[in-house]
Amino acid sequence: MGFERSDSAVALLGMEGFVLLAAAEVDGELHQLVETQAAVVGCAGCGTRALSKGRRRTKVRDLPSGGRPVVVVWAKRIWRCPDADCDVKTWSEASPLIDPRASMTERARAEACRRVGQDNHAVAQVGRSLGVGWAAVMAAVRDYGRPLVEDPGRIGAVGGLGLDETAFLRANARRHTVFVTGFVDIIAGPAARHRGRSQRQGGETWLAGRSESWLAGVHPVAIDPHRGYANGVAERLAHATLVVDPFHAIRLANMAIDDVRRRVQNDTLGHRGRKGDPLYGIRRLLLRANERLSDHARSRLEAGLAAGDPLDEVLDAWLAKEALRHSYAADTMVEAARRFDAFVREAKSSSVPELHRLAKTMSRWRTEILAHHRAGASNGPTEAVNHLIKKVLRVAHGFRNLDNYRLRLLLHCGVKWQTPPATRIRGRSPRLVA
Ligand SMILES: [Zn+2]
Repeated sequence: MGFERSDSAVALLGMEGFVLLAAAEVDGELHQLVETQAAVVGCAGCGTRALSKGRRRTKVRDLPSGGRPVVVVWAKRIWRCPDADCDVKTWSEASPLIDPRASMTERARAEACRRVGQDNHAVAQVGRSLGVGWAAVMAAVRDYGRPLVEDPGRIGAVGGLGLDETAFLRANARRHTVFVTGFVDIIAGPAARHRGRSQRQGGETWLAGRSESWLAGVHPVAIDPHRGYANGVAERLAHATLVVDPFHAIRLANMAIDDVRRRVQNDTLGHRGRKGDPLYGIRRLLLRANERLSDHARSRLEAGLAAGDPLDEVLDAWLAKEALRHSYAADTMVEAARRFDAFVREAKSSSVPELHRLAKTMSRWRTEILAHHRAGASNGPTEAVNHLIKKVLRVAHGFRNLDNYRLRLLLHCGVKWQTPPATRIRGRSPRLVA
């Protein structure tokens, strides 16, 4: 490569510890020859001052400059330990800014993740602008995005509701202990044996036997959107906040998944689901929370959908359920409302009739569903989720990777991004060079 030593030899690249030696344009790309400033290095094994054994050039992609793709050519030093008894013979220098196996600098990888996640750019488009392939960008999205998405502090304090289904159910068990011992199960229990008017009367009769002071202590009241106000809750407990808790809401979404699955099963195979049928085999996995799926379970789910769901109707029902869960996982009421409205819009515009019904039922309970979030007051993510759900739903036809779907969804609307763009460096390898 015909680099010319430039006068700006010490020009800062913005990469700590590196200096720019020369720059040249090669086929419309900017190639920058760099080296580290490390002149004196001790052996990692014995601490003896290392001897230089020459250089090897490594090429990685960096952030584009002036619209041109940038290639960083790192003249990596090879070091040798002069001590013949030392186990460490030779090594090449390392930097947390450039992973030895990556095709991009770490700041380019962080920016690729931000553009896919926060800006919602297509992975292929980001790849093109950086001069790397789809897989390299997606790997960067995973490496930088997962820690953000899995950060336990991301969800905030919303009544103990987690994205994890175990915690989710546990939280609901706790709510039941609190409200239900107080209320829902005690009424719904005996009342559920009756139908119609008697169910309502059952609840009212039971409530009528409670003292005013006992009733005043009931707050809030968790109700089941499926049965509605059947228990005469509204009349007797006008002071209490009515809440549709996640357990009941998501159970309704799960019932919609079951309905779609049975219908599609019948449409495609002409009989009820049985052992060996692709959709029947994944009936329980469909109801499991996305993040609770092991890799094996996820592959089974994807294979079952690929084999038994030709029009993506079951997939759409599954995505609707996850979108509803996503709304409950929001850490502010405003964000929850945005996500909930996106869920309703998406379900209403779907070609799956069962999802229309679900959307209709759920939107009737919007106030009570959002009441679940009343406690939250922290700063929520500011990005809107609705267009992303639409976009990712479309993309989902191209790739059925549910994990990528979730990651992108959460990166776009479930995490707080630093502005200016994160330049956080993964400090994985020991720093041989300052
Ligand atoms: Zn040594």
